[in-house]
Amino acid sequence: MMNTPNISEHLRLASGRLQQCSESPRLDAEVLLAHVLSVPRSALITNGDAPLEGPLLAEFERLIAECQRGVPVAYLTGTREFWSLPLHVTPDVLVPRPETEELVELILARLPADRAASVLDLGTGSGAIALAIASERPLARVIGTDVSAAALDIAAGNASSLGLTNVEWRRGSWFDAVAQQRYDIIVSNPPYVASRDPALKALRNEPLVALASGPMGWEAFVAIIASAPLFLTNHGLLALEHGMGQAPALAAILRARGFRDISSHHDRSGHARVMLANFHASTEEPS
Ligand code: SAM
Ligand code: GLN
Repeated sequence: MMNTPNISEHLRLASGRLQQCSESPRLDAEVLLAHVLSVPRSALITNGDAPLEGPLLAEFERLIAECQRGVPVAYLTGTREFWSLPLHVTPDVLVPRPETEELVELILARLPADRAASVLDLGTGSGAIALAIASERPLARVIGTDVSAAALDIAAGNASSLGLTNVEWRRGSWFDAVAQQRYDIIVSNPPYVASRDPALKALRNEPLVALASGPMGWEAFVAIIASAPLFLTNHGLLALEHGMGQAPALAAILRARGFRDISSHHDRSGHARVMLANFHASTEEPS
């Protein structure tokens, strides 16, 4: 008689099925099984010999099939860790990316912990950037905005699960969401994929409004940079995540709008992905 396949065996089979569609098939299989069994991932290793069958196996198989269809693991488990914060995510928000943590790191390096500051996160999605900054800088007052009401619901839920009270949420398109006041730091990871970029196919399960804002890919940057000087304090910082190959165009748009101290920062794979710039009030034309 054949033995019922155990946890180890099912993980091996599932990793094989995810080989074609995932960069980390074994990890994804473990995360999904740990989710189904409501145990930490480490328990799968220590209980590798335990049988897996019945409704739990059926649920695991269902999630593996969804994953093979391209649904992000984070949507299947409903959570994603960002900056060590467990965030609830649904298909209404972009799954926060590791490279966005580098944007947070660059901002924190310029935001002393003992100083009150105002921070505006445009297009906050799950709230990832706003919440990471709010958690690291209790003296900062952070506002996260989004055009999507559903995304703001997720962000607000994340703030309350994390017990963060120095962050608020506003709905609207870019600066329309906030009152005419000035912020020390404006940060954004806006949609920057060109609307006909074939890369969008692999991202089809995430909201299009989070990924694309026009045919060129830099339309959101143009909108944000045009108005940012009206919302930044003197010497205020604008911090933007962008796509591969967009740095020269972005730097030109920033320069044309009077930004200075423009610096480009690489991600861990060596691609320029973040741009920082300061606005000096003296270069703003009187209106
Ligand atoms: N900040 C989150 C992160 O880094 O994970 C989400 C970034 S996602 C790439 C871009 C976000 O911008 C989405 O949540 C989308 O809804 C929002 N968005 C798109 N167009 C917008 C607009 N015109 N005004 C404000 N937010 C917008
Ligand atoms: N980083 C996303 C990608 O996978 C794009 C997110 C965005 O448009 N800001 O390409």
